[in-house]
Amino acid sequence: MSNSSLATWRWNGNTDHYNTRDHVIDKITIHHMAGNLSLSGCCNAVQSRGGSTNYCIDSNGNIGVMIDERYRAWTSSNRENDMRAVTIEVANAPGAGEPNWVVTDKALNACIQLCADICRRNGIKRINYTGNASGNLTMHRWFFATGCPGPYLGSKFPYIAAEVNKLLTTAPAPAPAVKPMAVNPSTGGGSAQIYRVRKSWADAKSQIGAYKSLDNAKKACKSEYTVFDEKGNAVYPETAAKTYKVKVVHDDLNIRAGAGVSNKVVGSIKDHGVYTIVADKVVDGQTWGKLKSGAGWICLAAGFAKKM
Ligand SMILES: [Zn+2]
Repeated sequence: MSNSSLATWRWNGNTDHYNTRDHVIDKITIHHMAGNLSLSGCCNAVQSRGGSTNYCIDSNGNIGVMIDERYRAWTSSNRENDMRAVTIEVANAPGAGEPNWVVTDKALNACIQLCADICRRNGIKRINYTGNASGNLTMHRWFFATGCPGPYLGSKFPYIAAEVNKLLTTAPAPAPAVKPMAVNPSTGGGSAQIYRVRKSWADAKSQIGAYKSLDNAKKACKSEYTVFDEKGNAVYPETAAKTYKVKVVHDDLNIRAGAGVSNKVVGSIKDHGVYTIVADKVVDGQTWGKLKSGAGWICLAAGFAKKM
């Protein structure tokens, strides 16, 4: 994992305000500096506050690296977010301040270019700005009592997302939509089958509904949830039926009870071994594979496992 080639400057100060990431990069968090700081001024300021940032952008649009992208920077007052987010501090315009904390067009455009570059290099297919922390473009004030990124830059997030996605449209088209589920004849037509909507079969507490109608269960099935039949078989979204082998490339890969990082860690793989996957499922843009052993699910994203 490398840094963006758009960066033309690198901080040379010392810091221990960073960690090894425990999650692949799948989010971006944009901050403002609350001042028109230079690149070194920004790094020194966040360092003195006990924090750090992956990137900083000055008001002329110059991009600097403080903490290598492959590390988690301490930027957003939220460990879980920063473990998976690349963080960016953007300078405010000369003379800008309360209440709007404007940034320059040069800085904004550099930020858009940098975001697109981060997405491309980390396999983020598009920015999904949801207006809350569930999306992949997040802001500091959702995690902490701060005004960051300020009213002006905060109001630009939908625009930033749209511009980044335009830049990403040269990427390959997304996979075709999931085929409609075929009705199982043995359970159709008014049998006593109950379909349960949970994050994983083992996690009964995550259940958000139980339905006689599979169609209704599917309608209730949100992202990261699965519809299970009475026996605990996942019936929706459809998982691939084919079996294949992967080589684990991560040093300490979590095994989770279900597909997706919201599921409980139930073990780990440290042997860089070859494992058989019997089903896979895409959650939040990442493919997860079900281990043949029944131990659970592992993330198959780049940096974790490689298809053989
Ligand atoms: Zn901030």
